[in-house]
Amino acid sequence: MGKIAEIEGIIFKIKRFSVHDGPGIRTSVFLKGCPLNCIWCHSPEGISSDIVIWHDQSLCIACGECVNACPEKALELANEPQPHVRINRKSCIRNGDCVKICPTGALQFAGSKTSVTDVVDEIIKDILYYETSGGGVTLTGGEPLNQPYFSKEILKECKKRNIHTAIESCLFTEKETILAIMDFVDLFIVDIKIFDGQQHIRYTGKSNRIIKDNLQFLAETGKSLIVRVPVIPGITDTVENKNDCEKFVHNLNKHIPIEYLNYNPLTENNYKRLDIPFLIN
Ligand code: SF4
Ligand code: SF4
Repeated sequence: MGKIAEIEGIIFKIKRFSVHDGPGIRTSVFLKGCPLNCIWCHSPEGISSDIVIWHDQSLCIACGECVNACPEKALELANEPQPHVRINRKSCIRNGDCVKICPTGALQFAGSKTSVTDVVDEIIKDILYYETSGGGVTLTGGEPLNQPYFSKEILKECKKRNIHTAIESCLFTEKETILAIMDFVDLFIVDIKIFDGQQHIRYTGKSNRIIKDNLQFLAETGKSLIVRVPVIPGITDTVENKNDCEKFVHNLNKHIPIEYLNYNPLTENNYKRLDIPFLIN
């Protein structure tokens, strides 16, 4: 595919036959890196821009192969509460020797470097399904606008092939970034999470001022929009938050649909696999 083959980004998943990320049957591409740090994030492996090691204890048979293979002595076997591998992430140089040798797939990389060409080749496998179902491709994450150039090139290639494009974003980005990609996006799916500014900082680490401004900007352009609010018990599911979010969105344009996304109680396991504390009780 010539020059675009040189453009690379980091993704952590490609999900084919997705039916929850926009209309019809879609391929969802999950890009790494997010400027927010929501304490309930369903995909904590997507928050860091770096490729990291993912350890699934339920698959580990405590054979010790990885411990012996690691040149940095970053791994050790521990016995409590059951035999498992402990990772010293500061010592890990991510060379992947442990991933290669693990016989059960308990050790994996969360994330891989890939090219626009490789992503587009995967997307076009299902082009017939998109055509018959009204589907397409959705860039999600993480935050796709965290890798704006990579995202833009994927979207551009999809539009060349007449594939419907959606981007799922928190909109915590510069307006210039949105302007640079918007011609290649058919549908923006935007999370607004928490309306109150202080509460937003408390639970996501960042102000929502820029998000509200960008959402207003997008609504004024007339682009197709869906707003999503995650339903997190005790945090975003209050009547006040829902009312404030709905009022804000409907004041922008009463035709913008609002969807509520249910909290996934299995999320905690993903935090364990990355040794990240899970702060929701
Ligand atoms: S990726 Fe390499 S350095 Fe890191 S734990 Fe595995 S073998 Fe050790
Ligand atoms: S190689 Fe895999 S299965 Fe064996 S101890 Fe390491 S993580 Fe567990």
